[in-house]
Amino acid sequence: MVEEHTVTNDAARGANVYDVLIMGAGFAGLHGLHRLREDGFRVLALEAAPDTGGAWYWNSYPGARCDVESLVYCYSFSPVIDAEWRWSERYAARDEICQYLQWVATRLDLRKDIRFNSRIAKAHFDKNDQLWHLRTENGEEFLGRHFIASSGPISTPIMPNIPGLSDFRGQMIHTARWPTPGPDFAGKRVGVIGTGSSGTQLIPLVAEQCGQMHVFMRTRNYYMPARNRPLTDEDYEWWYKNRDDVRAKLNRSEISGGGDIMLDEDIAKHPNSTNGIDLRREERFEILEKRWEHGGAMIGYAFRDVIWNPEVNEDVSEFFRKKVHTFVGDAGLAEKLEPGKFPFGTKRPTVGTDFFETFLRPNVSLVDVKASPIERMTEKGVVVAGKEYEIDILILASGFDAVTGALTSIDIRGESGRSLKETWVDGTATFLGISLVDFPNFYMIGGPGSPSVLTNVVRTNEFQVDWIADLLCQMRENGHRIAKVKPEAQQAWADKVEKAATHGFWGKTDSWYVGANVPGKKRQILAFTGGLPAYRKACNVERDSGFSQYGFSHLAELADASVLLS
Ligand code: NAP
Repeated sequence: MVEEHTVTNDAARGANVYDVLIMGAGFAGLHGLHRLREDGFRVLALEAAPDTGGAWYWNSYPGARCDVESLVYCYSFSPVIDAEWRWSERYAARDEICQYLQWVATRLDLRKDIRFNSRIAKAHFDKNDQLWHLRTENGEEFLGRHFIASSGPISTPIMPNIPGLSDFRGQMIHTARWPTPGPDFAGKRVGVIGTGSSGTQLIPLVAEQCGQMHVFMRTRNYYMPARNRPLTDEDYEWWYKNRDDVRAKLNRSEISGGGDIMLDEDIAKHPNSTNGIDLRREERFEILEKRWEHGGAMIGYAFRDVIWNPEVNEDVSEFFRKKVHTFVGDAGLAEKLEPGKFPFGTKRPTVGTDFFETFLRPNVSLVDVKASPIERMTEKGVVVAGKEYEIDILILASGFDAVTGALTSIDIRGESGRSLKETWVDGTATFLGISLVDFPNFYMIGGPGSPSVLTNVVRTNEFQVDWIADLLCQMRENGHRIAKVKPEAQQAWADKVEKAATHGFWGKTDSWYVGANVPGKKRQILAFTGGLPAYRKACNVERDSGFSQYGFSHLAELADASVLLS
């Protein structure tokens, strides 16, 4: 069976033909390559960067660090990796994450099947030969029977929409395209636009190095202290005992994307099992307080119903607003930093170290650009409310065209020749966030309509990789060459995604969750908000049914089968 699908070198076309082509060699791409290769498929991963690391490769700004705990922000599929890797800190810095992925690539001998420095420019499904035709920016061409896009949900940076941006004559750097080596900030005047996760991590570290910093803050977001620290032998002892349980809980959890690691049992149980509304108000605050002391991304996600119960959400939001005062004391400054009046969780909260305290430094000024938006850039700096802030370096921590950007920025075309960008112009509809009508044998990891960014992405990626691999194995066993998702299945899932989003406050706030940060992007919740357990259940039902929502074709049934490679 394997031989039937082990593809030959198509010398006539001067291109290599693979069973599976994978876009991206980050967390999902590496795992996909490993799993499918173990299953006997001939696989090639094409990666734009010179090495693995995924989004982390490019985000090398000072302070770049994962705000999900390292013990759960890593693979669980390999006993070898589990046994041999050890994280140094509670939250891994960007360099350590890259080292981890680079080590995994070497340890599992994946490098020989990865083509680095290979950014895909176009990917077209050719209905004549029923193959995916990929071309890189370097002009190399590859053919594949299946095409998996694991390009990352947060990997396409966007520039802020500010008049005259290109007039600025100083150095301008986006956090997601940080140069190596980075700039020397000593004595420099630095401007920062953006106080999301990236800005929150970067600001304290650059403020320590530079002469003067102006932070142009628009939305005041909910912020939580990470309380980072080295991981000890005792931590690892705990981890080895509880690892399976923590991972199982992550799979069962509706909102616990970060995991609840080393929390007291009575506090840790809440996100999975307790609705805040069933507790007295004092109890809610007591739990939040304990979580605050523990630190980390899960503080605000203490209660299962935080995202749909107004009373619970308001308590959590108020808790964070009040906490600002404990960092900066001074009432005037605290008011300027207090989270805005939007429901907690509808915009990705930030996690960091010394973020609020940084605004107490004499060399840091906070410029409120909510009330008076940035008017324009000049050669020398940033103009707000008629005042020009002169700077030498402008840092743009202005975010990403999330979830869809990495796919629509490439010329991906399905069977009809229509591009993905055109297909999604009025919004995204997918089957399980994985497949798409008119795009046969094409699969997305973390695509729109999957829970991706609202869950622990590494865990959800692993689940999707295995699911897709199971689909491909089943096709091989049955001699099927082409899988096309049924339109009615896609519509039914799109309806579910939309319905789930109405149960919660998601649409209420401008954020990248709904594409509001990209001019012209259809406003729509990009992820499935129904939780990981419901998603896993839907995927498992589909797998157990023999992938009944797909139509499969045998080689002989395909039009003009004579041109097909076999
Ligand atoms: P982001 O959360 O989208 O933040 C972008 C920031 O730029 C916001 O503060 C935004 O203000 C501001 N901005 C954009 N245009 C502006 C303008 N014209 N004027 C003033 N301000 C402007 O982007 P990010 O911080 O890069 O983070 C994106 C996502 O990446 C995160 O939410 C997270 O999921 C992921 N991430 C994760 C980690 C991690 O540790 N795991 C680290 C970094 C990033 P508004 O809010 O008002 O639009």
